[in-house]
Amino acid sequence: MQFDNSYSRLHSSFYSKVEPTPLANPFMISWNRNLAYELGLEGMQPEQVANHFGAMEPMPGSEPIAAAYAGHQFGHFVPQLGDGRSILLGELLAPSGQRWDFHLKGAGPTPYSRRGDGRAVLRSTIREYLCSEAMHGLGIPTTRALTIVGSEEEVYRESLEYGATLLRLSPTHIRFGTFEYFYYKNQFDHIPQLIDHLVQYHLPDLQDVAEKERSMAFFREVSKRTAALIAQWQLVGFSHGVMNTDNMSVLGLTIDYGPYGFLDHYDPNFICNHSDHTGRYAFNRQPEIAQWNLSCLGQTLLPFISDDVEQGKAQLVEEIECFQERYQQHFNQGFSNKLGIEQYQKEDQRLHRQWLDLLEQQQVDYTLAFRILCHTHSEQEPVALFELFSDRAVVIGWFKRYQKRLAQQQMTPRQVTTLMLAHNPKYILRNYMAQQAIEAAEQGDYGEIERLLKLLQAPFDEQRDLDRYAEPPPQWAKSLSVSCSS
Ligand code: AMP
Ligand code: MG
Repeated sequence: MQFDNSYSRLHSSFYSKVEPTPLANPFMISWNRNLAYELGLEGMQPEQVANHFGAMEPMPGSEPIAAAYAGHQFGHFVPQLGDGRSILLGELLAPSGQRWDFHLKGAGPTPYSRRGDGRAVLRSTIREYLCSEAMHGLGIPTTRALTIVGSEEEVYRESLEYGATLLRLSPTHIRFGTFEYFYYKNQFDHIPQLIDHLVQYHLPDLQDVAEKERSMAFFREVSKRTAALIAQWQLVGFSHGVMNTDNMSVLGLTIDYGPYGFLDHYDPNFICNHSDHTGRYAFNRQPEIAQWNLSCLGQTLLPFISDDVEQGKAQLVEEIECFQERYQQHFNQGFSNKLGIEQYQKEDQRLHRQWLDLLEQQQVDYTLAFRILCHTHSEQEPVALFELFSDRAVVIGWFKRYQKRLAQQQMTPRQVTTLMLAHNPKYILRNYMAQQAIEAAEQGDYGEIERLLKLLQAPFDEQRDLDRYAEPPPQWAKSLSVSCSS
């Protein structure tokens, strides 16, 4: 295992040196074999995993630190957040050359823990583990998760739970909030340093950009990646739940899985986080919030865009305004592909809108409706599709217009199906599925975690023996609520 620690070579204001705090009687719960293979860690034994990521036995070359950052939480600026219960053990250099932060969540208190205990409970590590791998399986940029280590350490949340750690991997954990931290502390010099660091290790395409243009080029890159990311969330029906600026990755990755949720029936106003009383982070507000968050990041770059402040401001505003269009382009093209239309055309807007309206009005399961459409788009009487709708007359009308549109392109029905199957997952991580895995794990049975991991790493494939997971959620799942506590 080869570690490098580029982040700890930055100025000491970027982080604090810390030591992880061992968990009581740790044991490995799950190990992500696919990812371990990519990292060249397939030979690692469960005892070693528990030793390093539970008992906190140091790994050679590791220099543990907690990173400092700030952030806008629910619209309000908090000047100091930072890794309060995550510790960056080091950066692993994989055989492919890829650099991976080994970020251990639940590793004990740090100088940024405020009143928190620095721990994570088993419940929340399972939710993050499964969802980050599910997102990866869906082809959506995300942090990854290598292992869950459980323990006998008691951790208090609403009730007594057990502490666990999650080993989270990401090329870097730099967030919008990292920039805000230095900007609001008036440590302006650190901002170009942070950009240089990102360019050197993570954004090599910006290496050739002239010094003067770098901040703007960096901002444009973040904005483009964020637009693409949010479009993917919207297309798959993913709601993040806590889109604070400290939970926004500058690499455009999904990060920090808390009270997230996937849509069951299509409800654009869906709020997955029960602590979000105003619906700031409701499903359909995610693009607008991402843009708002980008404006927070942009603000921190203002001193570096141009010598003329007004001109710099104008450039930033212009760039922020591009977000909406970029997002819409990704979304429209992706939505067309979900419907089996290869090339989006402006006139398709109506067809898109009407389909979503139908799903919303008749409370139809979002994932299931698309997946059934993959197999029924060329039928005269698509019974399986119509069965999803209580009012069939309107859906029949839409379906005729849809078939007419499909007929305009030069594709065989089979080709249309292939296109659709690649854009419409059969399996998503519904809340009740994570809940079942959690309840079993709390009783010491980890089989469901393994089953779901395997299922969700290949969500577009037919996995006949696991077909029950493609159904809408059972009735009891309707009352499940997810809080921020983790
Ligand atoms: P999150 O809601 O997970 O994005 O966390 C927001 C901030 O609270 C971050 O700075 C976390 O590190 C910190 N935090 C959350 N839970 C804990 C905890 N149990 N102990 C210490 N810090 C925490
Ligand atoms: Mg966070």
